[in-house]
Amino acid sequence: MNHDSISEIRALLEDQSIALKKRFGQNFLTDGTIRARLGELIRDAVALPGGDTGEVWEIGPGLGALTDQLRPYQLPLRLFEIDHGMIRILRNRYGDSIPIEAGDFLDTFPALLNRLPAPPVPRAIVGNLPYHSAGAIIPRIVEEGIETPVMVFLLQKEMVDRLSGAPGTADYSALSVLVQTHYHVLRKFSVPATAFYPRPRVGSAVALFRQRPDRPDRSLARTISLVTRTAFAQRRKILRNTLRDYLPQLEACGISALLRPEQLAPEEFAAIARACQEQP
Ligand code: SAM
Repeated sequence: MNHDSISEIRALLEDQSIALKKRFGQNFLTDGTIRARLGELIRDAVALPGGDTGEVWEIGPGLGALTDQLRPYQLPLRLFEIDHGMIRILRNRYGDSIPIEAGDFLDTFPALLNRLPAPPVPRAIVGNLPYHSAGAIIPRIVEEGIETPVMVFLLQKEMVDRLSGAPGTADYSALSVLVQTHYHVLRKFSVPATAFYPRPRVGSAVALFRQRPDRPDRSLARTISLVTRTAFAQRRKILRNTLRDYLPQLEACGISALLRPEQLAPEEFAAIARACQEQP
C-alpha cells in the first residue's frame, strides 16, 4: 500500500471497519522521507557488531508503514501489535512470512519468552510508539533483561527528553537513570507533526539506544530501579530523607546524603545498588 496516501489509509480503515483508538496512540507515519531515514538508521544500527544475529522486533506496526520500509533489508522481523483490526490487515498482507504477536507487548513478550525453548535475544527492538505505551514498554524491556544491543524508537519529543535527560535537568528522572544505566541514548533527528496521520499535537523525535558494555545484570537492574524510584518519588528532598534505609550504602560509595536525586549520575545510582547487594 502507499503509506504516503492519507486517502488510501482512510479507505482501508473504513473498508475494514477500523476506528482509530486514542488510547493506542495510532498516528501513522505518512512521510516517505522520514520513513526512509528511520529505516536506514535501523539498517545501519543492526549492522554494527552485536546486532548482526537474531530477530528485529517491531512494536506497534499499525498498517505496516515501518515494516514495509524494513522488508527490503531482509531482516528476520517479528511484529507485536495490540489492535485486532490492524493485526488482520498485517496477517493478510504478510501471511506466514512475518510472525505477529497479537496483544499488548507487555503481555506478549513474556509469553513469547516462555513459549520458545531458547528465549531469543532480538538484535534490535524498534517502533513508532505512543507516549503512554513507550513509558511502560521501554522500562520493562530494560527491567526484564532483554539483552537487545540496539533499540530505535520514534517517540514524542517529551519522552525522548525524559529518556535522555542529563543530571541536574528537569527531564532527569527515575526513568532516565534506569534506561541510561543500560543504554547510551542518542537523539538522532526531529520529526514534525505533519509527518503523521492523524496529526499529533506535539512534535516527535527518533532516539537510538546502544547497549552499554558496563550495564547491570537483571537483579542489579531491579535494585537500581527500586533505589531510584524511591529517591525520585520526592525529588525535591535530600537523600538523607528519602534513602533512609540506604545510608550505609551511600557512605560506602562516598555519596553525600545531603544531595538531591537529580544531582546523582546514573553510574552513582548503580554504585548504590551494587553496595546494597554487597552489604544487604
Ligand atoms: N508503525 C506504524 C506507523 O509508524 O505508521 C503505527 C505507529 S502508531 C504511533 C502506534 C502503534 O502501536 C499502533 O498500531 C498501536 O495500535 C500500537 N500499540 C500501542 N500500544 C501498544 C502495545 N502496548 N503493544 C502493542 N502495540 C501497541
